[in-house]
Amino acid sequence: MAICVSHRVKSIKPSPTLTVSALAKKMMSEGIDVINFGVGEPDFNTPDYIKNSAIEAIKDNFTRYTVTSGIPELKQAICDKFKRDNNLDYEPEQILVSPGAKASIINVLMAVCDLRDEIFIPVPYWVSYISQINLVDASPIFLPTNEFNNFRITAEQLQDAIDGSSNPKAIILNTPNNPTGSVYTKKELLAIAEVCLENNILIIADEIYEKLVYDGVEHVSIASLSPEIKEITVVVNGVSKAFAMTGWRVGYAAGPKEIIKKAGLIQGHTTSCVNSIAQKATVTALNDEDGSVEKMRKEFDVRRKYIYKALNEINNVSCVEPKGAFYAMPNISYYIMNNKKGIKNSSQLCEYLLEEYHIAIVAGSAFGVDNYVRFSYANSMDNIIEGVKRFKEALHSLI
Ligand code: PMP
Ligand code: GLU
Repeated sequence: MAICVSHRVKSIKPSPTLTVSALAKKMMSEGIDVINFGVGEPDFNTPDYIKNSAIEAIKDNFTRYTVTSGIPELKQAICDKFKRDNNLDYEPEQILVSPGAKASIINVLMAVCDLRDEIFIPVPYWVSYISQINLVDASPIFLPTNEFNNFRITAEQLQDAIDGSSNPKAIILNTPNNPTGSVYTKKELLAIAEVCLENNILIIADEIYEKLVYDGVEHVSIASLSPEIKEITVVVNGVSKAFAMTGWRVGYAAGPKEIIKKAGLIQGHTTSCVNSIAQKATVTALNDEDGSVEKMRKEFDVRRKYIYKALNEINNVSCVEPKGAFYAMPNISYYIMNNKKGIKNSSQLCEYLLEEYHIAIVAGSAFGVDNYVRFSYANSMDNIIEGVKRFKEALHSLI
C-alpha cells in the first residue's frame, strides 16, 4: 500500500542550521579537523549552580508529569524575570512554559492562525519561522531588509505590506536578531508597534537573545512600550542561549490570557509538560543567577569584536557590526559572482568551504538572503582565528 504524506509536510525541509552542524560533527567523528560555525549554540557548559539544582530535583524524585503549562514556581520566576528585566507585569496564567522557544512559537502560531492567514517576516529570518508558518497552513509575507538599513524593517514598510495583504494576522519580530545580530531601537519598535495597533496585528516578539547585547546597546521588549502594545504582543523567550541550556529544552511565552490558554491546550495534546527536572533547573537559573550570564556575554563580546574586524579585512567581503546575539553575517556576493569553480550561490559556497577547507558555515539562502553566509561565533577564540583564516584562504582560492 502506498502511504501518502500530508500536504503539510511535502515542502518541509530539515533545519539547515542543525543539518550543517550534524554534517560537521559527522566529519569530526571521522577524524577531520572541522571548525564548526554552524549551529547557534553556546559552547559554554551550563553553569554549575543550575546543574546542581537539577541533581537535587532528581534526588528529590521530582520526576513526574507536572501541570502542562509549567510548575507554579517556574511561572512565578518567569513573571519576576519579566518585571526585573523588562518592567513587564504578567500573571502566572499569562505564562506558558514549553520545550524550547521553538515550541513556544509553534504553539502560539497554532493557537492564532487560520488557513492562509498572513504572517509578516523580516528578511533575513531565523530558519524555523517559515517552516512553522507553513505547518500551520498560514503564509509568510516577506519584508526585505539590507545591510544599508542595518537589516531592520521600518514601520512604513510594514504598513505598505499590510495594505497589500489580504489576510494580515501577525508579525514575528526577532530582536536581537538571528542571523544578523541587529538590535531594534526603542523608537523603531514603537513605530512598528503603532502600525500593529492600528491594523490589529498580533506581535510575536522573539527575544531569546535579549541578554546578549554589546557596546552598551539596550534590548527593549516591545511589549513594555505601553499597556495597549502589551495587549497585542506575545513575548517568546527561553534559557537556551543566555544560560547555555540548549539541550534542556525550556522556553516560554507570555501574553494575552486567551492565546496563552489555547496554546497550552495544544501543548497538552502534543508534548505535555516540559521535563520536570529541567523546569526546576530553570527556576534556579532565573532566580539565583550568579554572574555566569554576564561572564559568557563578555566572552562572546571579545569574539564578536575579533570576527567583525577579521571578516571586514578580507578583500571584497563586508560585514555589518553585529550588536546582539552571537552571529556575524558577511556579504560574500563578490565571490559568488566572480569565481573559477562554478559556484553559483551561497549554498554551493558553503559546501565548498566544508569539503575543501573544513569550515562549517550556514548559507545565507537558509535565512532568505543568498548573498551572505552566517557564522556563529559561539566558538573558542582559537577556532575563530583559525576558521576565519581558512575562510579568507578559501575565498581567495576562488578567483
Ligand atoms: N528563536 C531564535 C531566533 C533562535 O535562534 C532559536 C535557536 N534555536 C530559537 C528561537 C529556539 O530556541 P530554543 O528552542 O532552543 O529555546
Ligand atoms: N537557533 C540556532 C541556530 O539558528 C539553533 C538551531 C536551530 O534551532 O535551528 O543555529
